[in-house]
Amino acid sequence: MTDQHRTLVANMIETMYEENGIGLAAPQVGESVRLLVIDTRPTDDNGNPTTEGLTELEKAVVQPLVIFNPEILKATEKTTYEEGCLSVPGFFDTVERSLYVEVKGLDQNGKELVIKTDGLLAICLQHEMDHLEGKLFIDRLSFVKSNKIKNKIKKSGYPTPDEVVEERKRVKEARAERNVKSDK
Ligand SMILES: [Zn+2]
Repeated sequence: MTDQHRTLVANMIETMYEENGIGLAAPQVGESVRLLVIDTRPTDDNGNPTTEGLTELEKAVVQPLVIFNPEILKATEKTTYEEGCLSVPGFFDTVERSLYVEVKGLDQNGKELVIKTDGLLAICLQHEMDHLEGKLFIDRLSFVKSNKIKNKIKKSGYPTPDEVVEERKRVKEARAERNVKSDK
């Protein structure tokens, strides 16, 4: 771990929070380092992180999570989630991921780290690890769906920041609605 690595970690965490993202991989900021920063904790009205809605396994992981050289040790069952990405702003679609993962890597101090988690954190880890392989969530959609998004971007470019905020709101509300339903 060098000072450059530490600076990169600090900058990536700052960028992730500024962009209201829940994760960021170094290649997304143009650095070819196998590094992820993640924080899936929801925030309260004052913008402070809470543990509301997190699973017990998620709560046990210290966030923001910083992980170098992540490797999947174990991945079980499948789940789906409507994902978005700071590299594909304004687009969301349902992606299949493992429900539970065990991931090994190194922390900020170069010490070995093993994360065992489910919930949004498990999904986010898999999404961010894809970035290290140059893969985006839209590459995991069906050919038709993925092409639809790519063509839209080609034709009209990315949505404006205002449109991105609107779309995020819509997805968040739809997600909350589904959660209410599945609770019943
Ligand atoms: Zn992403």
